[in-house]
Amino acid sequence: MRKRIEDEFAALPVSRQRKYQLRMKRDRCCTECGEPAVQGSRCLKHLVKARERQRKKRGLKRRYHGTLSYRLEAAVRQKRQRATRRSVRASR
Ligand SMILES: [Zn+2]
Repeated sequence: MRKRIEDEFAALPVSRQRKYQLRMKRDRCCTECGEPAVQGSRCLKHLVKARERQRKKRGLKRRYHGTLSYRLEAAVRQKRQRATRRSVRASR
């Protein structure tokens, strides 16, 4: 049998899910999938998912492009574009 996890969250009167989230947060990993989180409490994929879920639920119309998930998305898109351009040049 696996040894029980003994840490600062073990004795808290909260659900197993919440303890998982707290441990992931402590270790700077995504609170949903456990992947390393660059910034904030989730990986980029789940940051975006959470954002869109909340927009839908709350009926929000505006997009705040200065916010973390948009900035990270833009960075990823730029990186990808640069990589494509490089490969096109290399194949010529
Ligand atoms: Zn995730």
